Amino acid sequence: MNLPIPFVNRCLALPATCHARVLPTPVAAPGLIAFNAPLAAELGISAEGANPATLAGIFSGNAVPEGAASVALAYAGHQFGGFSPQLGDGRAILMGDVVDVHGRARDLQWKGTGRTPFSRGGDGRAALGPVLREYLLSEAMHALGVPTTRALAAVTTGEQVLRDSALPGGIVTRVAASHLRIGTFQYFAARRDFTTLQALVKEAIERHYPALVQADNAALALLDAVADKQAALVAKWLGLGFIHGVMNTDNMTLSGETIDYGPCAFMEAFAPDTVFSAIDTQGRYAYAEQPRILQWNLARLAEALLALMAEDPEQAIAPAMAILETVPERVSRYWLAGFRAKLGLTTAEEGDAELVNGLLQAMHAAEADFTLTFRQLAAVAGGQTPEMAGLHPHLAPWIAQWQARLAREPAVMLATAANTFADRTALMLAVNPLFIPRNHRVEECIRAAEDNNDFTAFHRLLEVVTKPWDDSVDILAYARPALPAERVLRTFCGT
Ligand code: AMP
Ligand code: MG
Repeated sequence: MNLPIPFVNRCLALPATCHARVLPTPVAAPGLIAFNAPLAAELGISAEGANPATLAGIFSGNAVPEGAASVALAYAGHQFGGFSPQLGDGRAILMGDVVDVHGRARDLQWKGTGRTPFSRGGDGRAALGPVLREYLLSEAMHALGVPTTRALAAVTTGEQVLRDSALPGGIVTRVAASHLRIGTFQYFAARRDFTTLQALVKEAIERHYPALVQADNAALALLDAVADKQAALVAKWLGLGFIHGVMNTDNMTLSGETIDYGPCAFMEAFAPDTVFSAIDTQGRYAYAEQPRILQWNLARLAEALLALMAEDPEQAIAPAMAILETVPERVSRYWLAGFRAKLGLTTAEEGDAELVNGLLQAMHAAEADFTLTFRQLAAVAGGQTPEMAGLHPHLAPWIAQWQARLAREPAVMLATAANTFADRTALMLAVNPLFIPRNHRVEECIRAAEDNNDFTAFHRLLEVVTKPWDDSVDILAYARPALPAERVLRTFCGT
């Protein structure tokens, strides 16, 4: 039996330079780990009657779904500051795109399906650990309200992949608003293929910024729109303690979705210079560096688009620079709006940024858990003392300032809550999650899966992190930070 997927495949209407046709390399013994039925329904995929074996066949690439485009996409990218003119889908196949039930185009990509013309020295495969990590982290981010690629399915391959040691293999099916990356534009700019570049600008605008279809200067308008979307995205990351870990230009989308869950992680004790990725030895992609790196990456997008912005690219430099210069201010604006909400503030005052920074400094000094601190502050807003709420004594002077600021807020009125205290708490609890995919929990899932082929911990954690606000169940063990012996301070790329 097959699984009907209503492919539209607008990817095939792009210039042939954008992709290479390639089929997945079959795997020995596919086994279904997870299938995201609600997401499938959103994509218009009817999985009724599809049993696990059918799904494993499809999502391993052994049975190519009917109507699939099955292409690997070309892209380039700056990796840790150095330009690679040719990267591309070296271990992934874009099976095709559909129009979802909301009328939006969505790409369906199988990752770990074997070699492609872009594989360079790689085997085109993915290890099971990174597959589980991507599934958990991307679905958690979606539940947390962060624009992100999604995970539709994960399978085991029944084969080993050779990394530092032999590891079980896996394949994850990723769903994205598109796979247009900054690096996609860099690939064609480096080749001076302005025809393809123009087609990609048109595609990015039609898919992600339809309001700009009539723009006088499409490339410039696109740069401006992407700058804004990405600024909002990075501000969301900062508000959750999320560290992407590999903000290379090939891992930044034009859609403003988070993509490429490699060594990413959520921090526990707040420290702005936190880095998890084992290969980020210079701290280039540390937590607090992310806005600066965003601006750097957008400058690379601007360079790639320059030739399309004006007859004489020299003429385009000033307007492009003007957009790039707005990036820090845009991130700050989204950041402040996000943190105001996290602190239960519904109005704006001059000193609010200083208030937030004061909290972050106190959290840093106290090594306070980023996620739990805001839940504890919500309890304080509800009338608990800081001690009762579990806050570090070091935060006391700051809490006095915050309470003085709250006293200048108008009363919050929610239909469901009886008093102002509870109302403020409700507002705060709604934007400050209880559950994030804590590193040691993710690691625990990977260990059980790799060592014992046991996916119980994975399914349990997936359930917890996809309901990040739900404190009704007795799963508080998932909310606490790692004990010293459990801490995972290093994460690795998916390769
Ligand atoms: P990533 O680390 O996922 O951002 O990948 C960076 C580049 O390396 C992309 O072009 C990938 O397709 C490629 N790549 C990563 N792992 C493999 C692999 N196992 N085989 C072939 N290409 C790979
Ligand atoms: Mg990548």
